[in-house]
Amino acid sequence: MKEIPYKIYLEESEMPKAWYNLRADMKNKPAPLLDSKTLKPITAEELSKVFCDELVKQELDDTTPYFDIPQEIYDFYKMYRPSPLVRAYCLEERLQTPAKIYYKFEGNNTSGSHKLNSAIAQAYYAKKQGLKGVTTETGAGQWGTALSMACSYFELDCKVYMVKVSYEQKPFRREVMRTYGASVTPSPSMETAVGRKILEAHPGTTGSLGCAISEAVEVATQTEGYRYVLGSVLNQVLLHQTVIGLETKTALDKYDIKPDIIIGCAGGGSNLGGLISPFMGEKIRGEADYRIIGVEPASCPSFTRGTYAYDYCDTGMVCPLQKMYTLGSGFIPASTHSGGLRYHGMSSTLSQLYHDGLMDVVSVHQTEVFEAAQKFAKVEGILPAPESSHAIKVAIDEAMKCKETGEEKTIVFGLTGTGYFDMMAYEKFNDKKMQDYTPSDEELQAALKNLPKF
Ligand SMILES: *Cc1c(COP(=O)(O)O)cnc(C)c1O
Repeated sequence: MKEIPYKIYLEESEMPKAWYNLRADMKNKPAPLLDSKTLKPITAEELSKVFCDELVKQELDDTTPYFDIPQEIYDFYKMYRPSPLVRAYCLEERLQTPAKIYYKFEGNNTSGSHKLNSAIAQAYYAKKQGLKGVTTETGAGQWGTALSMACSYFELDCKVYMVKVSYEQKPFRREVMRTYGASVTPSPSMETAVGRKILEAHPGTTGSLGCAISEAVEVATQTEGYRYVLGSVLNQVLLHQTVIGLETKTALDKYDIKPDIIIGCAGGGSNLGGLISPFMGEKIRGEADYRIIGVEPASCPSFTRGTYAYDYCDTGMVCPLQKMYTLGSGFIPASTHSGGLRYHGMSSTLSQLYHDGLMDVVSVHQTEVFEAAQKFAKVEGILPAPESSHAIKVAIDEAMKCKETGEEKTIVFGLTGTGYFDMMAYEKFNDKKMQDYTPSDEELQAALKNLPKF
């Protein structure tokens, strides 16, 4: 056995040349997107009013297993990839566990998260189509930051609708976006018809991703030369994020490491989907078996307490309907500190996999998540994002189970980003003022009333 280094780095030449489309291998394909008016599967033509043409193709393609990564995107990737797969020797030592823990670290770029992997791809396709700019929403600000960087690289205009609570809590994120040339508007705003409607119905609302999406879509579809881009949930985003899983697999294979458990946090499902895709592909094809665990916040439990149904992707009900685990498009989660995990729905691909029993999901509370984050930060030297720390929490739990049973399991988890812009959250935690939220059954029932009926 080769000695395993602390960091398994790949050569540039070992980076994947193509993204892997897991849907091509899925026996039960994710349900198609439906037009919200006709309730028929949406056509490429209709979707291309909202999204760039190449991205529409990727979105609707359930059969092509690989999509080549265009050279321009590949060259950008090379600035911050391949990302390291780290053996958490120090954490293992501190936990006194026989488990072997690895994490794939995606926080090594200025935007501080994995979101840049898809942002640069989406900006590239917009540029190639000759568009002037793109609009989007951002929750915690990571996606908006990543997209601003990507747009400035390709000299595209970038309009960001930022969930109001984050806009106020995270002024520094906002300034990073503006430094890269983006315009940032707190959502809901008075700039759009849908924003005005939401504000009238819920004055004083701190917003949600669902509201911000509606505003961004409205502006994109009503402004010449603009399209809308989304940082999670969609098939195309999962596809771009498979660069994470493909690199992870290459790094593990280099040292003949076979993971037993693969863990990722789940907001809309893009990093989890990207990390697990190559492994899930092997599992579906019967070539290997893995335990795959998604981790979601107990305050926004789309998988574990949601309903598997067609729902609106946004509060304003302007987007196509998607079949997914959902809490209802009107669900506004408590303003917890993991802004990136506050979406009411989930990727349709992951929803189908979960429905088919191919993966597990656990929900965790934010205070225990921050305890895990601190434990990790103290020995591994990285200050993790609150979202990423959901995966840390469950990785530590699994490692502690190994300590009880003496099993030497190999655990791999996705460390999606850094937490330098989340110091208000860490402050709450350090001052012991952090609270946990669990929505009541009544609250969840009420939000499901708005599910489309047909
Ligand atoms: C956005 C974000 C997430 C969650 O988004 P997914 O699409 O579910 O991956 C997780 N971690 C970080 C750091 C994020 O910025």
